[in-house]
Amino acid sequence: MPQSNRLGRANLPCQLSNPLESFYTVGLLVALDDATGGRGEVAERVLVVEDNDLNRKLFCDLLRANGLTVEPVADGHNVLDIARSFEPDLVIMDIQLPNISGVDLIEALKADETLRRVPILAVTAYAGKGDEDRIRQAGAEGYLSKPVSIQPFMNAVNALLDRRAAA
Ligand code: MN
Repeated sequence: MPQSNRLGRANLPCQLSNPLESFYTVGLLVALDDATGGRGEVAERVLVVEDNDLNRKLFCDLLRANGLTVEPVADGHNVLDIARSFEPDLVIMDIQLPNISGVDLIEALKADETLRRVPILAVTAYAGKGDEDRIRQAGAEGYLSKPVSIQPFMNAVNALLDRRAAA
């Protein structure tokens, strides 16, 4: 698989926050990917914890378009159990979840003997001063503030997966 075929390297500076543009672009990426394949021979697994239906669908569509296997989770309550059975290579973690904080979930994942090795990419709508530090201190290896653009999102996903594959 030539590097140029990886969607994360494509120059597509659009925003996931614009539904019409995003659906168009994701559809385009899926169509492109049908012709080019995905990340590699073995589909890596990404757990997507995001309560917003549109964001969750967009993240999952993008990841699938890049050849990844995804498990969408809208409710933060069973994240640890789902992660133990799904055995992800990467976790995408929204921070603002109903009834539970993504920061607490990151800390819980990093307190688990097995799951602590799984990299976490945090995504948050509130990028106030100190937010990134707080989230990274909880154990997240990656951090993006919303609205999330496609290229930085896929770059972060690919970097964390590459790092895990090399470990
Ligand atoms: Mn949320």
